[in-house]
Amino acid sequence: MLDEVRALLILQDRDRRLLALVKELEKLPQDEARAKTKLAGDETAVTKSHDTLLAAELKVKKIELDTETRRTTIKRLKVQQFETRKNDEYQAFSHEIVRYEKEIDGLETLELQAMEAVDKCREIHNAAKAALAHTQKLIREDLDSIAQRQQRMQAEHAEVAAERATLATQVPGSALPLYERLMRTKLGLAVAPMAESRCGGCHMKVIASTAIKAQAGQELAQCENCGRILYMAD
Ligand SMILES: [Zn+2]
Repeated sequence: MLDEVRALLILQDRDRRLLALVKELEKLPQDEARAKTKLAGDETAVTKSHDTLLAAELKVKKIELDTETRRTTIKRLKVQQFETRKNDEYQAFSHEIVRYEKEIDGLETLELQAMEAVDKCREIHNAAKAALAHTQKLIREDLDSIAQRQQRMQAEHAEVAAERATLATQVPGSALPLYERLMRTKLGLAVAPMAESRCGGCHMKVIASTAIKAQAGQELAQCENCGRILYMAD
């Protein structure tokens, strides 16, 4: 194998690691966003269950108010009843009082049901709050681990990039610009193995003279289809 190609292969290894790291780093914001979306769902559940709870509590208050209104009315009716001297009026007041008392009975039943509903709503709300707290904890851990991953990968990237810069100065011959161009345009594979006369990059069969050149390893061989630098695969 040409020394030039050997050096380029080492450089390509570092370049591919750098590309992989960049790709991983680019995915991190998505991971973060995904984690936060989960939080938004749980926050909505807490808000909704809180609204439902408030509405249920309001219903109880309204029933209490309705009951109170009727109690006040009964008091007023009883005063009026006490003051009247007419028997038929007295009877009419009695009927009305009984009617309001029945209404109060009905309202008290409703109030009990409404209070049970409040208890259920409170349970649901508490469960939603607990779920949110649990998710918040998980997400904090997720975000921490994402941040740590980012730091690790950035450190590795800096390290590999420094090593790569040194390696690039050590490539013999004049193929470095060609390599750099291929690296950019050929999906991170500039130097490809040739096996059974096929280019390991584009998988096309190369012509006989190219195959011989790659096998001999005396001069730079390039796939005539994709331009990649070829070397003989072991
Ligand atoms: Zn090719």
